[in-house]
Amino acid sequence: MWGHLMPLSCPAMDRLFAVGRALAGPHSLTNSSVFWRAAQVLACGWALAGLGATVQAQSAVKAAAPAAPARAAEAQAAPLSAAQFCQRVTRKLPNVSPALCAEAQLGAGAARSVRGVPLFQRDVVSPHPTLRVLVVGGIHGDELSSTALAFHWIRAAKETPSNIHWRFVPLMNPDGMLQRRPWRMNANGVDLNRNFPTPNWDKEATHYWQQRTKRDPRRYPGPKPLSEPESRWLHDEMERWQPHLIVSIHAPYGVLDFDGPTVPPQRLGRLYLDQVGIFPGSLGNYGGVHKKVPVVTIELPSAIRTPQEAEIRQMWLDLLRWTADRLGAG
Ligand SMILES: [Zn+2]
Repeated sequence: MWGHLMPLSCPAMDRLFAVGRALAGPHSLTNSSVFWRAAQVLACGWALAGLGATVQAQSAVKAAAPAAPARAAEAQAAPLSAAQFCQRVTRKLPNVSPALCAEAQLGAGAARSVRGVPLFQRDVVSPHPTLRVLVVGGIHGDELSSTALAFHWIRAAKETPSNIHWRFVPLMNPDGMLQRRPWRMNANGVDLNRNFPTPNWDKEATHYWQQRTKRDPRRYPGPKPLSEPESRWLHDEMERWQPHLIVSIHAPYGVLDFDGPTVPPQRLGRLYLDQVGIFPGSLGNYGGVHKKVPVVTIELPSAIRTPQEAEIRQMWLDLLRWTADRLGAG
């Protein structure tokens, strides 16, 4: 139901509450999206007179706040249709026209986000597929270009002969991206790319978050592995569909990363391999290191702009070439 409240919030209050939120601290109960949306709506109704008292109240709550964000509200009653999804997502995405989104012919399976948005997908199947490749964008909701690239590659897959059964999921974290101000985490404030069940997750992921990130709310790994429906879906999809390769699209570090049992691609277009490290709970760590499924992680150079058309194409062709050489597609 909280999703319905979002249009009621007002920009002036957003700014004021951003200040209050900063005062309340990143780990406070008051940092939960539900709490803040409710507070914004109420404050818009009360106007400025009530603001001082409200911010003060948030500061008071801080003392008793737990370390992790509160869980989000329940799912929407009726999930978005593909057409509604395209309407909402193309307003946010760089370089994705409504026509490109419609042309993707997305379908909704059973998978839903915390707020009940389908994790739309599109399969592009070659006449004689010998490999299954899963391409996932938008694991982090504020990396808009990653979802945009997936849409462009759906078109490329339809135009390029291969022996591959492609499964594209352009936006795995719709709750993070479709809210008024896109953010990295899902609706529960969880970084989905730290929520996969790598060995010793309970110890390592939490320790890493607390010690290395100083409890950065943008990197909160969740209360337990696979606590979120979005990461659970990807985990289960790997079990069900057994992809030979996972391509995970992110931004904005401008590099290529790789985890898994084969020789990594050295470059995709202008992105060069730079294996930066392994994080507890990440998809690369879980898929590539633990499950031995190669995971190519693309870090586009900008989160809000896509590469040029020719670069998008070159990255695609380089991915196909590496897949043929290393995994046997052709
Ligand atoms: Zn990311």
